[in-house]
Amino acid sequence: MSALLQTTRLSKKFGGHAAVSEVDLTVKNGEIHCLIGPNGAGKSTLFKLVVGTHEPTSGRIEFMGKDVTHERPYQRVKQGMSIKMQAPSVFKELPVRQNLHIALQHHVRGADLAREEDRLLELLDLTGEATKLAGVLAHGQQQWLEIGMAIALKPVLLLMDEPTAGLSPEETFKTGELIQKLNTEGMTMLVVEHDMAFIRQIAHRVTVLHFGNVFAEGSINDIISDARVAEIYLGKTHEH
Ligand code: ADP
Ligand code: MG
Repeated sequence: MSALLQTTRLSKKFGGHAAVSEVDLTVKNGEIHCLIGPNGAGKSTLFKLVVGTHEPTSGRIEFMGKDVTHERPYQRVKQGMSIKMQAPSVFKELPVRQNLHIALQHHVRGADLAREEDRLLELLDLTGEATKLAGVLAHGQQQWLEIGMAIALKPVLLLMDEPTAGLSPEETFKTGELIQKLNTEGMTMLVVEHDMAFIRQIAHRVTVLHFGNVFAEGSINDIISDARVAEIYLGKTHEH
């Protein structure tokens, strides 16, 4: 598998504090790559560097072989990245179908538009909720709708920061199934998460951040059986 996304010695300092320090991260074409680590490890900062909402202090970001280090978020989106932010930002006063319509309207026309809305509703298991206002959906359903809006443009790389935040175990599992389905259809995923059950469900490869550095990297099995990782990561999450 070739690299779809690659960061080289990527750093972000806030004042004197290095939130992300010399990070080399490779997301391979076709994989589900999870980014984990204790609170404050730098996961969200690295995520924001990749999507372009933070400017790096130093280092380089390549996407599909092209240097995007200084490109704006919308330019990265045009090239095939899509971002599912942490909190759902669906239009709560509009019906579910209308939300998808808005995400699709500039890219799909005529009869194809309704067909594509139907396809997404089915994929998200929201066909029965199409005419309901997005604001009355359960939190999990709103998250899926948000994912639906993020994938409307058929991105090459979908980036998600804590897609299971606030979800029940059942909703979390279903979110995992949705992510796997999208991946089977060819979408590469970079997912920031700290729910280990969810990571076990979906991850092909895992990068562990600690104090802004890459602490470990490997297959999900490598990471689960790494005692050093358990100490810094699992140990701390159990305190919550
Ligand atoms: P994580 O997502 O792994 O919990 P963050 O990337 O949010 O970690 O934070 C990493 C470190 O950078 C923390 O020490 C945090 O306080 C600091 N940090 C994050 N964002 C900012 C910011 N905008 N300004 C100053 N410090 C920040
Ligand atoms: Mg975070």
